Amino acid sequence: MSVAVILVAAGTGERLGRGVPKALVSLHGRTILDWSVAAFAGHPDIEMLVVVAPAASCESIAAGLPPHARVVAGGPSRQESVRRGLAALAGDDLEWVLVHDAARPLVPAAVIGAVIGALRDGADAVIPVLPVTDTIKRVTDAGQVRETIERASLCRVQTPQGFRLAVLRAAQAATTAELTDDAGLVEALGLVVTTVPGDEAAFKITTPYDLRLAELLVAR
Ligand code: C5P
Repeated sequence: MSVAVILVAAGTGERLGRGVPKALVSLHGRTILDWSVAAFAGHPDIEMLVVVAPAASCESIAAGLPPHARVVAGGPSRQESVRRGLAALAGDDLEWVLVHDAARPLVPAAVIGAVIGALRDGADAVIPVLPVTDTIKRVTDAGQVRETIERASLCRVQTPQGFRLAVLRAAQAATTAELTDDAGLVEALGLVVTTVPGDEAAFKITTPYDLRLAELLVAR
């Protein structure tokens, strides 16, 4: 299979409060980005890795990447960063693409394998998901409960999200709406998005608590 990976790593990481872009924050001796690169680097089907990085850090990041990786500067939104990553794949003979949040550095190989497996089986778009375990309620701006949402059919969505490259390109071209994930663009085209089991270890580092949890997990 000819699979490319776009690692989006251009976020500011304000909620982490470290004063550097989140992808460059240290996690047990190497950056969050390095952990994410390592999660994908050894997979036999992955031919190309594009890191979408903060503009000011592109050069230093490029110096530490494996030979089949390239770096491009990110944009003001996650979706724009993905768009720039896709543009960096133009001209390459690739059939599939995975889009992964660099902020999910501990994604297990089994999740990456499940997403690639579903693409191999013919899916246009694949997302890893987990069940919702908390009760979910809609509340007003004033903090009052409006309704309780039935949770059995809800799921939490992780990355990597996998796509037939032509499908993601078409989905990106069809909308200017800003969504929080890439599969949402494909849904908007009316195409089927397939799910595979996610893994709690693929959680996104957002807050100082998440970073502490990641530190504990990798220190074991
Ligand atoms: O902000 P959040 O953590 O939800 O972002 C998810 C991923 O998207 C992160 O890995 C972040 O670096 C990336 N991102 C990006 N460009 C942006 C905003 C977020 O590459 N402008």
